[in-house]
Amino acid sequence: KGPDPDLVAIAERMATVKHKILVLSGKGGVGKSTFSAQISYALAAMDFQVGLLDIDICGPSIPKMLGLEGQEIHQSNLGWSPVYVESNLGVMSIGFMLPNPDEAVIWRGPRKNGLIKQFLKDVYWGELDFLVVDAPPGTSDEHISIVQFLQATGIDGAIIVTTPQQVSLIDVRKEVSFCKKVGVEVLGVVENMSGLCQSLTDFKFMKLTENGEQKDVSKEVLKLMQEKAPELLELIASTEIFDSSAGGAARMCTEMGVVFLGKVPLDPQLCKAAEEGRSCFADQKCSVSSPALKSIIEKL
Ligand code: ADP
Repeated sequence: KGPDPDLVAIAERMATVKHKILVLSGKGGVGKSTFSAQISYALAAMDFQVGLLDIDICGPSIPKMLGLEGQEIHQSNLGWSPVYVESNLGVMSIGFMLPNPDEAVIWRGPRKNGLIKQFLKDVYWGELDFLVVDAPPGTSDEHISIVQFLQATGIDGAIIVTTPQQVSLIDVRKEVSFCKKVGVEVLGVVENMSGLCQSLTDFKFMKLTENGEQKDVSKEVLKLMQEKAPELLELIASTEIFDSSAGGAARMCTEMGVVFLGKVPLDPQLCKAAEEGRSCFADQKCSVSSPALKSIIEKL
């Protein structure tokens, strides 16, 4: 029996991709897609050629996070063309193929595997320095497929995103175990939503007025705090939202012998950038989370 023609086709496509990185998480909602989107923006800003592949078939949030909602994939004689955010940042997601973003994708394993195979086989990325793959949470069909399809051409490794809560950390152990079982290196673990954003100036304080409207009273609140209780400002800045008494992801990494890549704070500006489909590196607004993300990238 000769080699699997699909795997041969994938290997040919991936021959022009230098580094392939999987972004994983044990649970949903921990910020995996936000992280994938923002590191892709950051790598593109560093002049790398970047591809972002969203294989979260049931919940593709990458199009929205890069401001690409409503975009469609085009075909060329070279294959499916990614949707470009910038000339050096191309994106591919099932989100571009769905006629209605509100519609649920109810697919069984084989169909999901088929689409992942097609993404790897048929998308024409051209020369890429990095292919960032945003996987769904957990360890299911999609994960087994992507690893199996990419392994012949090599995967650099996986980054695991978690929040500091125990329930999320427990699932990180499962992700690490999955990587070990399938032979994918764990590049490291990122603790997201770790502590409050250090600057209260990033927060919006809204007051409900008598006629039911919301009024932004942030300036007044900050002024009052600065005058009356500056200690309180400091205290809030170092507040942990989630209980970190057990040592969080850093401690768990030491126990498991994997690299701890760093923390990204809970940052309303980062959330806003993700909601609006913007890079948090483009302006000076994500003043706490963007340096945190940059330092993580430098460690890779
Ligand atoms: P996942 O991909 O793990 O399901 P998402 O990336 O979709 O999670 O993030 C869930 C929500 O949390 C999004 O609204 C996102 O904007 C927000 N979010 C993620 N990380 C942060 C952060 N560090 N600070 C503030 N909001 C965040």
